[in-house]
Amino acid sequence: MRAFLLSIFAMTVIGSSAMAQTKVIAHRGAWKKNELPQNSIASLQHAAELQVWGSEFDVHLTKDGQLVVNHDADFYGMDIAEATHADLRKKTHPNGEHIPTLEEYLRFGLKQQGLKLILELKPNSLGKDRTLEAVPMVLALIDQLEAAEHVEIISFDYDACLKFRELNATIPVHYLNGDKSPQEIKAAKLSGVDYHYSLFQKNPTWIAEFKALGLKTNAWTANKKEDMKFLIDQQIDFLTTDQPELALELVK
Ligand code: MG
Repeated sequence: MRAFLLSIFAMTVIGSSAMAQTKVIAHRGAWKKNELPQNSIASLQHAAELQVWGSEFDVHLTKDGQLVVNHDADFYGMDIAEATHADLRKKTHPNGEHIPTLEEYLRFGLKQQGLKLILELKPNSLGKDRTLEAVPMVLALIDQLEAAEHVEIISFDYDACLKFRELNATIPVHYLNGDKSPQEIKAAKLSGVDYHYSLFQKNPTWIAEFKALGLKTNAWTANKKEDMKFLIDQQIDFLTTDQPELALELVK
């Protein structure tokens, strides 16, 4: 009887851990359904209202050393790397918002209970040195705002990922570019990967392989129901999407 109960207990524990729910991350905030500007404070606020696990956004460094939040390397035609913050403030999003500084964006995000802030550092168009210069600046701001427990970092720039890890041992850092194996990510002491969803479809053993090494898996940008379902069935840790409303329905 005791052995029987123990085996039931073991099956329950294994079953519940294996069924860990995929968490939804809104890509560039939750903007699509309500036609909000991507990466705007309004899109971040809407992500929080939807109660997604996290909201992703993109960070660039201006010519005068200000970290700002925007997807493209230009803000309505103005090259961010070559512009000052004052120049950029001459333009606005269609909803009237200025380009948010990273500090403004994080401060707003930190007020949203339980929302993870997924910070993507973009490669700087002036070159690798400028990209890497932004790394300690981002970490200093996270430190100043005591935001470390609320932020996870992602980047397509592998050297930037390595530098984040070198300068900070605890904030999760995930690599985006899809060209490193589970073993390479583990050896680099990164936390995991955030790869294009098609790579997990082409390499159907990867999610399990990353997990076996204790690494996290995330996929961008899954917007179709069938692609989301594939990832959820594979028990991916996170799913990054422009359609957070649909993803939330599917992970219920
Ligand atoms: Mg991004």
